[in-house]
Amino acid sequence: MVSKIKLDLFKLKSKEDLIGVYKFFKKQSEKWFTKSNEPKAKYFFVSNCPLCLSDDSNEVYKIDGFSYHECQSCNSLYTKPNLRHDVLESLYSDGTYQVYHDSLVKTSLDLRKGVLEERKHSQIDALIKCVKPSLLDIGCGGASFLDVCKKNGWEVEGVDPSPSSAKVASEKYNIKVHQGDFMDIELHKKFDVITLWGVLEHISDPVSALTKVVSLLEVGGILAFEVPSADCFLGKYLRKYNFSPTRYIESGRHNIFFSKKFIENIANHLKLELELIESNGLDIQTILMTEFDTETTDNILNLQDVINDLLLGDHYRVFLRKIG
Ligand SMILES: [Zn+2]
Repeated sequence: MVSKIKLDLFKLKSKEDLIGVYKFFKKQSEKWFTKSNEPKAKYFFVSNCPLCLSDDSNEVYKIDGFSYHECQSCNSLYTKPNLRHDVLESLYSDGTYQVYHDSLVKTSLDLRKGVLEERKHSQIDALIKCVKPSLLDIGCGGASFLDVCKKNGWEVEGVDPSPSSAKVASEKYNIKVHQGDFMDIELHKKFDVITLWGVLEHISDPVSALTKVVSLLEVGGILAFEVPSADCFLGKYLRKYNFSPTRYIESGRHNIFFSKKFIENIANHLKLELELIESNGLDIQTILMTEFDTETTDNILNLQDVINDLLLGDHYRVFLRKIG
């Protein structure tokens, strides 16, 4: 097993950046709500659970005008009403998301690339048998994960809706990125590995996306993804002590939070074998949002480490193998 990394949230994203980005999107989302903070009908629609289609749900908390419901069938969480598909799509294609990406990701690119992306690569590498695997990274952004895999000898391609991401990947790394919505792109080949890091929670129909992914995967190939967890400590905390976190909830962008129950169900449905599920969270620092001295920070990171071992961290990382 590839060893875990104890992450300090404030080394990944400064407190200022976290608050700045939260406020930026809060301002962006104001137009979706009335003055009394009710969702405007033209931006929203009421849907069943986007994962299992059950209509049986209970509101668990309300944050920034959005109502978060727990599906009584698959235990996932979703926003109800939900933002319309075209509203979501314009968020990612009109450059709004790029501002977020630029202010958060670029400042910690070295840490992300040198440590986090390397670990993802090692985790998949431990599961695959072929020498020069082909990889498709969906929602590849600035292509830093693709570049790490390319440097390790993999054949890599990406998909991203943002024209600027596709341009960066091609000019900076000489990597092919298909620009557009993954569901609209035709790929006439199969891959040994397909990854979606922080993607499924942003789209309106993750099950259709996963079904298409599996059709593009070689038998024996690996599907890996990371999603916000519906089962995590931070989520339980929010039910009891409601506040607006600067990450994890990310109102308007994170519309679905995945339960372990759903992940196991979809794996079964798509004939995938669960190789590994782990949780990587920053629950405690997200709640506290305070920078402490080294000793206290170390203790907090140790607490988080135990929470992660209990699979209660705020994100799930999942590795599945196509068996049929
Ligand atoms: Zn459900």
